[in-house]
Formats: sequence, structure tokens, C-alpha cells
Amino acid sequence: MIVILQADTQRDSPPFAAIIEFLSQLPNIEVKVHEVIGSQQILTEIYLVGDTAALDEEEITNIPGVERVVRISRPYRVLGRHHNDHRSFGFSYNGVHFSQENLNIFAGLCAVNSPGDVEEMMRACQENGLQCTRMGAYKPRTNPYSFQGHGKACLPYVFELAGKYGIKVIAMEVTHESHVHEIREALQQTGEPTGVMLQIGTRNTQNFELLKAVGRQQEYPVLLKRGFGITLEESLNAAEYLASEGNSRVIFGLRGMKTNMGDPHRNFVDFAHIPAVKQLTRMPVCIDPSHSVGNRDQAPDGLLDMMHCTAQGVIAGANMILVDFHPHPARAVVDGPQAMLLEELPFFLEDVAIARHAYEARVALAAKFQGRAQ
Ligand code: PEP
Ligand code: MN
Repeated sequence: MIVILQADTQRDSPPFAAIIEFLSQLPNIEVKVHEVIGSQQILTEIYLVGDTAALDEEEITNIPGVERVVRISRPYRVLGRHHNDHRSFGFSYNGVHFSQENLNIFAGLCAVNSPGDVEEMMRACQENGLQCTRMGAYKPRTNPYSFQGHGKACLPYVFELAGKYGIKVIAMEVTHESHVHEIREALQQTGEPTGVMLQIGTRNTQNFELLKAVGRQQEYPVLLKRGFGITLEESLNAAEYLASEGNSRVIFGLRGMKTNMGDPHRNFVDFAHIPAVKQLTRMPVCIDPSHSVGNRDQAPDGLLDMMHCTAQGVIAGANMILVDFHPHPARAVVDGPQAMLLEELPFFLEDVAIARHAYEARVALAAKFQGRAQ
């Protein structure tokens, strides 16, 4: 059961103390306080874990300072959307808002290769009105002899260039807890010119110790990619690991499933799961057309398969797009063949805008038919 307190209830206030005193004397119930720091206010939620079936919802709702009580109906206690649960969820990080309602585009390099290419990429983002990018410094590779990323050595110039070109958030994969410390150190050393969204890749979706470590820190939001060969439920539970440790600023990433049923695409595109994730949880949903499709194949209509899949995700309500671009794909150190070209960025963005308008029109249509007020 979740006891939601009235907004801005301070932890040192008498109502808070009285609520805790009441809840703590309930038999066989563990009380866990969880703070949700929104852009406007702090929301305190108290999780009651254990023998909650017999608890009197009305009695708890009537305690002064309590706003609402929600019964947990899904295994994802913090991130789940429970029965009759209309809590809004969203967060701002470094001036960028993330929610299940809006859309942010992260176009950038799969892997950082040189300061020159990073600069060209970031300049293109700025010229096209983008405030977010992706930059891989730590690359998990199938072959141990493949390039593993420049690691912490590239962080200072990546962050400085991000500041120069007005980039607010960089999605950056981490494969070990030490990478989070290296990122924090480099951001501090360069004067915090930008922000970082920590990315946990598909190979680490169930690396529980990494999830716990990244969940314990609350400075950086997290993009958790779906595991390529596990169920959706298992991946959503992995996201809940982050939240259970204290970090609920989590975005869930769809990036395709590994099976040769998806041929000729690199992975079987799973963007039809966007509404399912939104219905099961309150997380914003990201799509990664680059790692899903994994090639630059083009349909006879002139659109790349990656653009078709992106549009399919956006028209289904995606909230974030993580997509590989490169100024010179031939010299990209990782995933060059799937990178889109900088000249294609305006084309891509316009196509996304068409799909987004169509999504918004569909939502308005649903509201009209269901008689909901707009
Ligand atoms: C990536 O985004 O660079 C990446 C390696 O993706 P995934 O974990 O989905 O394979
Ligand atoms: Mn890649």
C-alpha cells in the first residue's frame, strides 16, 4: 500500500511525525519513506510493506496530512501504475523535462572517437534545436579484442564541448559502478557544463549489483534498456531495482529483441510494447531505432527502415528517441554502418514531428470518443 502525503509535507513537521507514529504501530507492517522530487514540489510517499490486506484504507486516508492511499496491484511498487493510480510522474533534469506525455530526442555518436567528430555532432544538434545527445565512452563489446571506448580520458572534452553547444543531457552507458564516479569527477572538474543520463545497456539489464549501485545515487537519471532475451516483466523488474534503491528517475528503453525472426533487422523491433509499458508503469518510454534495426536499408518509398520504425514508435507515444548519427560513419569506431548522416538529421526530425502530430491527434481522438474533457 502507498500512502501519499499532501505536497510539500516536511519531514520535520508534526503531521509527518503523527502519520509515521500511527503507521509504525501497525502489526507486521514495514514502513518505508520515499521522496519524489518533482520540478515544482516534493511529494512524500510512504510504502507499507507486509500484511496490508487487512488495513483500513479509509482510516489511513483520514489521517491529517494524507492525500490519498493507493493499493499496490503490480510487482513494480515504486514505478508501477497501480489500480486507480492516477499519480502523474515526470521529472526535470538539468532543465529538460521527461514524462509519459512529452518527447525528447537524443541524437549522437554510438561511441566517442575523436574531439573533432564530437564537436561536429554537437554543433549539428545545436543547429537543429536539440538539447540532448548520446555519447558512448564505455562500450560493452561482444569480442574482447574490439574497441571498448575511450573511457574516462574522453570525458573532459565531451563535457566541455557539450557546454559549448548548449547540450543539457548526454545519454552515456556505464557498465561498472566506477564509471559513475569517473563521470561525476569529470563533470566537477569541467565545471558541470552539461548533465548526464546514465544508460544501462541491454547486456546489463539484469546486472543486479550494477542496478543497485546506479539506483543508490540520485544525482543522475537512468535510461535502462530492455534485456534482449528476457521477458518484458523481467526487464520492468530490473527497472524497479533502481527505484527500490532510491532512484525513481528512470526511463525504460526498447531496443529490440535478439532472435533471427527479426531478420533482416539486427533485432526484432518491439515498439508495439510502448503502450504496454505505459499501462504497467509510470516510466517514460524510450525507443532506440538504431540498435533495433541496425542497418541503413531503405524502403522503395525513400525512407530508411530506421525512420519507419522511429515513426511507428513515435505514433505509439514514445517519449524519448535514442539514435545513432555520425558526421563520418566510415571512420566511426563502433556501429558506423547503422549511423545516420548529419545531412539526414533535419529530414529525420521533420519525419518525427509528423509522427508526433499524428500521435497527438490520436490522443485527442481517444479523448473525444471517451467523452473526456481535454
Ligand atoms: C548502445 O546504445 O550503444 C548500445 C550498446 O545499446 P544496447 O545496449 O541496446 O545494445
Ligand atoms: Mn551501438
